[in-house]
Parts: sequence; structure tokens; C-alpha cells
Amino acid sequence: MKISLIIPCYNEEESLLPFYTELNSVSKDMEEYDFEMLFIDDGSKDKTLSILKDLAKNDNRVKYISFSKNFGKEAAMYAGFCNSTGDYTAVMDADMQDPPALLKEMVKLLESGEYDSVATRRQTRKGEPKIRSFFARAFYKVMGKISTLDMVDGARDFRLMKRDMVDAIVSMCENNRFSKGIFGWIGFKTYWLSYDNVERVAGQTKWSFKKLLKYSWDGIISFSSFPLKFATGCGILSFIASVPPFILAIIKLTQGQSFNGLYSDVLRWYTMLFVILFASGAILTSIGIVGQYISKIFNEVKGRPHYIVAQTNKEDVVKK
Ligand code: UDP
Ligand code: MG
Repeated sequence: MKISLIIPCYNEEESLLPFYTELNSVSKDMEEYDFEMLFIDDGSKDKTLSILKDLAKNDNRVKYISFSKNFGKEAAMYAGFCNSTGDYTAVMDADMQDPPALLKEMVKLLESGEYDSVATRRQTRKGEPKIRSFFARAFYKVMGKISTLDMVDGARDFRLMKRDMVDAIVSMCENNRFSKGIFGWIGFKTYWLSYDNVERVAGQTKWSFKKLLKYSWDGIISFSSFPLKFATGCGILSFIASVPPFILAIIKLTQGQSFNGLYSDVLRWYTMLFVILFASGAILTSIGIVGQYISKIFNEVKGRPHYIVAQTNKEDVVKK
């Protein structure tokens, strides 16, 4: 059996050696498995690539793929999935926040045969800035509500998967990638393993608050059409709100009030309110309807598979 490890690296010169040393000692403990270490250099500007080249010289399990520029962790992970050849594949951060020591237990859980993947989540967010934790928690809550995905708070990208699952991920060829959503979308049976948060071994986080905000927004629009439905919702509310001023204006008119007579200001005010609410209701609802079509187009453009087969007794089952 072969285990492929995908390690996205962006300016990780300080953490690579401690990480490799740890991984190497873990692999010595698991001699019955072959390892493939796929380091994806995501356009690092420091010595990451030369360190990887040195490692590869002395260890033929080390493979590196170096990008022409920084394409982001999602692109790095996808490159890893497309190139992994193992029976089991895992994504791991290079900073030891995904402890290599957990691999042994994860493999054991997969071998038990009941699960297709073993995913990890941190129980605590110790050591993380409070405001970042707050937004992360809020994001998982909102995402759980507005999409059909089963979002797990504190979920990491660190998970060990069987071949079928990796093939399914590769078949999701969308450009705007949000792996946590993709893992959830493709299904399969997942075991969740909890561990205490580990702080980065060296260097700094590569995710600024702005980058995280953009990433979570990408996640929302890739896996939920709620923001589009929001416009329709506002439009309908505006329509409903236009009914009372309409009725009140009619009442005033039937009472014989004219637009020029005494108290005409009230009548004018009701009429204006009705026109504004009705017109904006019409506009917002139309935008919402257009949005619904765009969401359908968006889904088609993503070209996701129609279904993913987990088990079959047929040999050449058609995959579409
Ligand atoms: N990373 C990457 N490209 C990027 C940003 C990050 O390949 O544009 C890698 C980084 O080298 C690390 C992993 O993704 O191995 C997770 O990044 P980081 O530890 O900075 O994120 P955090 O753990 O703080 O969320
Ligand atoms: Mg990290």
C-alpha cells in the first residue's frame, strides 16, 4: 500500500526541515507502507524550492512541483490531488499544524474498512487571535444554515482519503475551489478525529484576514445560492409592504379626499410610499429571478459530476 502526502508550501523555508524530519520518523514507524511526499511549492519567494531540491536528492520519496507564481493553497492542493498516485492520500500543512504523528492512527481507522476518509478537526482554537476565531465560528454557522453542506467547526484540510475519493475530487474541476465544501459535496463516509490545536512550528500564517474573508465569500457563493435568493426575498417583502399604503390611499380616495384638498398631504404620502415600495419590489424580484438563472448557469459552468459512485459490482460503471 502506498500513502501519498500532499504538502502545499508557500514561503515555508523555516518549517520544511522540522516537518520533513518529523514525517520521516513517522514513516519509519510505518514500514509496511510506501510513501510519496508531494511538495507543492506555491510560488515561494524564499528558499523553499532549493530546500525541496536538496531533500529530493537524498530521498526519492520526495517529489516537488513548483508553481510559476503564487496560485493559492487551493490550487496547490488540486495539483497534489491530480498528481497523487497512492492508495491513500492526505493533505498536510508544512507547518506541523497537521501533526504527522496522527497519520498512523488515521491509516488504522481507514484500514478498519468502515470509512472512506478520516478527517481531522481541532477541538480548540487556542493560540489563535480571538477575532479570527469569532469570524471562523460565525462562518461555519452561517455556511451550515445556507448550504446543504455539513460544515464542521474547526475542520482542517488534513484528511486521509481512499483512491475513490481522490478521483472524485479530481473530477471536480471548478476554478473557484473551496476544498472543505468539495470534501462535503462528494459525500463518502468520513470519520472525524479531534485533536488539540497545535501552533505553527516556525514562520507566520500565510493567510491575512482579508484573504480569509475573500476565501469564505468564495466558499459561500460556490456552495450556496442564498445570496441570490436574498434579492428575491427583499423584493417580495417590499411588495408586501406596498399593500398597506395602497389600501390607505384607496380608503382616503373613497372618503372623497382629493389630491388638492384638505389633508391632501397624507394622501400624497401614501401614494408615494406605495409607488416606491411597489416599484422597488418589482425591480428586486426581477433581479432575484435573473439571479436564479445565473445560479443555474453557474452550476452548469462548474461542470461538476452528476453523481459519484462509491460501490458497485459492475466492472465498467459509467461515470458522468
Ligand atoms: N499555503 C500555500 N499557498 C498560499 C497560502 C498557504 O500553499 O497561498 C500553504 C502554507 O505553506 C501551509 C498551508 O498552506 O503549508 C497552510 O497555510 P498557513 O499555515 O499559513 O494557514 P493557517 O494554518 O494559518 O490557516
Ligand atoms: Mg498553519
